[in-house]
Amino acid sequence: MKLIPLIFLFLFSCQNTSEPDQPISINTVNGQIPVEDLGFALPHEHVMSNFGAAIEKADSYDEAKLFAQVVPYLKEVNRLGVKSIFDCTAAYFGRNVKLLKVLSDSSGMQIITNTGIYGAANDKYIPQFAFEKSAEEIAKIWIDEFEKGIEGTGVKPGFIKLAFDDGTPSEIDLKLFEAGAITHLATGLTMAVHTGNNPEAVTRQLAILEKYQIHTSAWIWVHANKTENSAVIIETAKKGAWISLDGVKADSETLNHHLKLLKDLKAEGLLANVLISHDGNSFPRGKAIRPYDAISKVFLKALVENGFSQDEINLLTQKNPQEAFGIRIRKVKQ
Ligand SMILES: [Zn+2]
Repeated sequence: MKLIPLIFLFLFSCQNTSEPDQPISINTVNGQIPVEDLGFALPHEHVMSNFGAAIEKADSYDEAKLFAQVVPYLKEVNRLGVKSIFDCTAAYFGRNVKLLKVLSDSSGMQIITNTGIYGAANDKYIPQFAFEKSAEEIAKIWIDEFEKGIEGTGVKPGFIKLAFDDGTPSEIDLKLFEAGAITHLATGLTMAVHTGNNPEAVTRQLAILEKYQIHTSAWIWVHANKTENSAVIIETAKKGAWISLDGVKADSETLNHHLKLLKDLKAEGLLANVLISHDGNSFPRGKAIRPYDAISKVFLKALVENGFSQDEINLLTQKNPQEAFGIRIRKVKQ
């Protein structure tokens, strides 16, 4: 009877520097909550963004239009059962935590924002200072956001958002990743890294985690669904990484692709390493909503029809996001 909890505690203490009995929390835009209170969470969405806008103007929105479009949609998704959304819009392409807080207050949706810099899109959203400062100096800015709040608002980030361009990783993308590693060791924030179909970037990121003795479970391979080859995903999940299958849409081709990857991971006993989301956007530069309701509306049903149990669905929608994002330093013990 007592054996399983004891084994769990043992594994837990190997991977975490926090005390085993210390409650694990997450930061929402409305403050810290126990990680269990996340409920059904979508780990990769965009409440709003200004992709394509100049860096200096990226956080300004037509607020009346934003609230009119986004509040009813957040309420609808909340009614469908989703309790929390991880907003992956980084600084310099549209993060605005004051507005996120109002949207959360008005809709009842828990929203988690991020610190970090988005290095993909050919470096378009990397501010000049990041090219000039060292990884340590950049990390200091992100650690300050975690300790003091973002831009004087008191709103604290719940994770680190980073991104790699396609092809061989650039110096700046690797430096930003090192800054992320340093920030993780100071804060316990998880690193969610836009990587997509780039196994070379996966290898380089894992090597940096190893250099900093950070456990792979502090790292999320964002957009792993863009990889056709599930072998590399399986191999990476076996190292303890989080695999983010975050392109779920209602069309059958996309659904089937995500289902196939999930079945492959399930066959290897790796469902506990998977996150599912849509990469939707309820205000993409003021344009029409790119939905993030397909999981609630069609995908969960498809999972049941394909033999996934309610426990497995709870794992994917609730337990895994809690495990992935619960704030704690994950250092490999020597
Ligand atoms: Zn995204």
